[in-house]
Amino acid sequence: MSRSLRVAVVGAGPAGLYAADSLIKSVTPDTGRDVSIDIFEKMPAPYGLIRYGVAPDHPRIKGIVNALQRILDRPEVRFFGNVEYGVDVKLDELKQFYDAVVFSTGAEKDRPLDIPGIDLDGSHGAADFVSWYDGHPDVPRTWPLNAREVAVLGVGNVALDVARILAKTADELLTTEIPDNVHAGLAASPVTDVHVFGRRGPAQAKFTPLELRELDHSPNVEVVVHPEGIDFDAASMAAIRSNKQVEMVVKTLQEWAIRDVGSRPRRLHLHFLQAPVEVLGSGSVSGLRTERMELDGEGGVRGTGEFTDWSVQAVYRAVGYLSSPLADLPFDHSSGTVPHRAGRVLDLDERPMTGVYVTGWVKRGPVGLIGHTKGCSLETVASLLADAPDLPEAPARSPEAVVRFLEERAVPFTTNEGWLKLDAHELALGAARGRARVKVVDRGEMTDVSRG
Ligand code: FAD
Repeated sequence: MSRSLRVAVVGAGPAGLYAADSLIKSVTPDTGRDVSIDIFEKMPAPYGLIRYGVAPDHPRIKGIVNALQRILDRPEVRFFGNVEYGVDVKLDELKQFYDAVVFSTGAEKDRPLDIPGIDLDGSHGAADFVSWYDGHPDVPRTWPLNAREVAVLGVGNVALDVARILAKTADELLTTEIPDNVHAGLAASPVTDVHVFGRRGPAQAKFTPLELRELDHSPNVEVVVHPEGIDFDAASMAAIRSNKQVEMVVKTLQEWAIRDVGSRPRRLHLHFLQAPVEVLGSGSVSGLRTERMELDGEGGVRGTGEFTDWSVQAVYRAVGYLSSPLADLPFDHSSGTVPHRAGRVLDLDERPMTGVYVTGWVKRGPVGLIGHTKGCSLETVASLLADAPDLPEAPARSPEAVVRFLEERAVPFTTNEGWLKLDAHELALGAARGRARVKVVDRGEMTDVSRG
């Protein structure tokens, strides 16, 4: 292996960028090696779910991009946006140019929920709604916000994001980066009640305390915790005692369950121990049937046979994200991940594929916060660096070779400089209207501004 290591990273979300950072930091005078990294991203802009997942009213989280931008600005790193692995470039082609390829393609679809009626009109996946309100270019610009009462299925942070964005008034979000079409859509929403349903108890909810408490900050939304679902067994008590975050979540829920309901115009209801069993309606959603559950003493729940029908005209399932299979790589459909050992991708015989690695949500599954992808990428890069002395050298290793390849294919790729132009353009659009940023939603326009 030569002194220079050429690495492709596929996917410019946090996991891919932290992998690039770890690779750069691995270079010390002692290693006698340098490293260059090209990051391929199918969107014209970087940052994955930070741009197209994190809710617009979480500007503090969006601030993480300032640190990630410093990675993109490093001289060892190049960004190729608008390049989709599997469509514009394949694995054997990448291996012509790079000694190692790290896949960090995340997750962007909704995990299915198999209950009757889930395909009715008005029944939506959270990921689709999130993509809409975060201005993802590849989803429709309009969203059917015509329900007065809405159900959100699931008790994780994504369910809370979806419920909060549905319940808040559009004007509360006007200082954020929501695109104009999203503001207009939310402004027309007649919603009065958003019901969040979880099949398990409060001690099993996957909220973080901060996300939960911020639900209560809206001057227009009353948070109502339905006390019949506030129940604990020995397993719940053990979970509360052993985890400070669970203890804080439970304490907040208990306080809210006994307070008087105020008079803010919209309500966000939290129901625990209510399992969704059927979406009701003919043609379109007119209700949701849930079964009351009880704790089984061992950390699980069982049905009681007691059913309730709720009047709702829309249902959002927030039961998890799902990664997509990648061309020429194995995929475990049950876990929705690429099989790996410490980040080394395993072939069908469970042997490591030479020079092929994986990190982030497509490696671990769609759980955990942005910060968790850092440790995940450290592990993957440690495996790559341990293998580096034995990796065969890519034959076409000049940095220009891949640029020529993309140009010959007429791929309209964007660069870090182009992204900085788009970033400045969006910030300027926002500044002119006293807003954080106004996102450009159209893919063609994103590319034109970046390449202009
Ligand atoms: P991603 O962020 O999904 O990045 C993957 C990248 O790969 C994307 O840019 C994608 O376009 C690209 N890609 C995919 N396929 C291809 C391909 N074929 N070719 C080229 N590129 C490709 N965490 C927090 O800490 N705080 C929050 O407030 C928070 N809110 C969240 C809200 C939602 C709705 C969701 C879903 C997650 C949230 N998270 C939050 C979690 C956080 O977003 C994830 O932990 C993190 O983004 C996972 O990083 P990743 O790099 O693995 O994947």
